[in-house]
Amino acid sequence: MDKNTKICIIGGGPAGLSAGMYLEQKGYENYTILERNDHVGGKCHSPYYNGRRYEMGAIMGVPSYYAIHDVEEFCGITHDGPQLNRNYKDRNGNVIEPFEPKKNILKIPRLMKMKKQVTELGRILETKYKGYDVNGHRGVAQGRYDGFAATPEREPVSGTNENLKDLTMPFKDWCELNNVELTQDIWIGPFTSFGYGYFDEIPAAYVLKYLDFQTCMNFVRINLWTWKNGTQFIWESLNEKLKNSARLNSDITKVERKDGKVYVTVNGTVEEYDKLIVTAPLQYFPDYADAREDEAAHFAKIDYERYDVLAVETKPEDHPEISYYVFDNMTPERLGHLMVYYRRWRDTKNQVITTYALRKHRNSAEIPYEECRETVLEDLKIMKNPASKVVNEQSWYYFPHVFSEDYAAGWYDDVEAMQGKYDTYYAGEIMSFGDMDETAEYSRELVERFF
Ligand SMILES: Cc1cc2nc3c(=O)[nH]c(=O)nc-3n(C[C@H](O)[C@H](O)[C@H](O)COP(=O)(O)OP(=O)(O)OC[C@H]3O[C@@H](n4cnc5c(N)ncnc54)[C@H](O)[C@@H]3O)c2cc1C
Repeated sequence: MDKNTKICIIGGGPAGLSAGMYLEQKGYENYTILERNDHVGGKCHSPYYNGRRYEMGAIMGVPSYYAIHDVEEFCGITHDGPQLNRNYKDRNGNVIEPFEPKKNILKIPRLMKMKKQVTELGRILETKYKGYDVNGHRGVAQGRYDGFAATPEREPVSGTNENLKDLTMPFKDWCELNNVELTQDIWIGPFTSFGYGYFDEIPAAYVLKYLDFQTCMNFVRINLWTWKNGTQFIWESLNEKLKNSARLNSDITKVERKDGKVYVTVNGTVEEYDKLIVTAPLQYFPDYADAREDEAAHFAKIDYERYDVLAVETKPEDHPEISYYVFDNMTPERLGHLMVYYRRWRDTKNQVITTYALRKHRNSAEIPYEECRETVLEDLKIMKNPASKVVNEQSWYYFPHVFSEDYAAGWYDDVEAMQGKYDTYYAGEIMSFGDMDETAEYSRELVERFF
């Protein structure tokens, strides 16, 4: 492609800004990033409180966040945030140690079995499911893998593996098929409580591409990255370094693609581009763009989670001494309950704690926002860390994904085949997974493949 190609990128979150970085590194400097909000970062959102930043959105990374490492290098920053740590409580607020055999004498046989199954899971992922962990979903439903390896070198890999088709089924079914059902006890912590839905509804491909064996073990060992000024700072730093910083407060009311050009109406003015990269939610693309039939049909299949975050003050005597996971509340039956609460700054009690709850599940009615909020505040009382005040709250459009039947019917291969067809490329969370690194890595691949 001509290096002067005029490229419009919709969205100034991790996917859009990293697309700008990778384009620039490849010699494309004629790009424009249009961001609707008055700030960059999207779901990496780190407001200030008493002089420090806390997290309303993304919190952490792991050492295998290679694309995030690219961004850090480009900006000259590093993961310099507070060390994370956590304990566990049951639904009645009692501190428990669910994985400690001495504290769970009756559960010893189950814990031993779980340990064996975790080892077995590691083995089958390397053998039977070879190729499972490449970024993105191309070929999976057809029993192929095609992408870049999840290694620091990220070398291109491809091949056929019929077993990969199993990854289209819900993770719970996939675990049962492979006799590793107890591994869900480990994987659920960094999956469901992080807002990514329940194992009976989410295809195994999403679970395992995000929580590949290595990444999951990093969570278990709390080998994690955080940023002192919040994850938003990563994207603010990148935005400052880019030759073309995102244009904030961009209200896009129309996208029209005709005669090999892309016309974007921004704040009432029509702008002409050669190519378009959409990193904003594809589900809503037809609301403002001339979506073609194949685009509209596929984007209508996208589902998402409702992940609610509250930032609360507590009285100093009620402040939790550490972050807590509440495994009892990570089942669909306990939809709308507090699953995890997070104490980011352990050297002071004058900071907020943040709470996390899901209120959407495929087979149940969505719980209204207010009801979920009340339940979480009640749960905090049960946990003996009552809130004295809600300081901030957000209900996120979270983790766009497709369900097993659409995944198995080839949703990803269809959409990948549409890349570039209407001078338009699709990136952002749905194309890989809803975390900072997978989205940035997908933008890297997109630039590698098409530009
Ligand atoms: C509570 C929470 C906790 C999380 N924890 C982690 C974590 O610990 N680690 C991790 O890696 N990830 C985490 N994530 C996920 C991570 O934040 C997202 O996956 C990532 O931000 C996705 O990047 P994106 O650019 O695809 O989308 P977004 O971050 O959603 O960015 C999209 C951008 O597009 C803009 N936009 C939307 N529509 C338009 C439009 N029509 N015109 C112009 N602009 C538009 C939005 O304003 C936004 O800035 C968390 C997210 C949340 C909410």
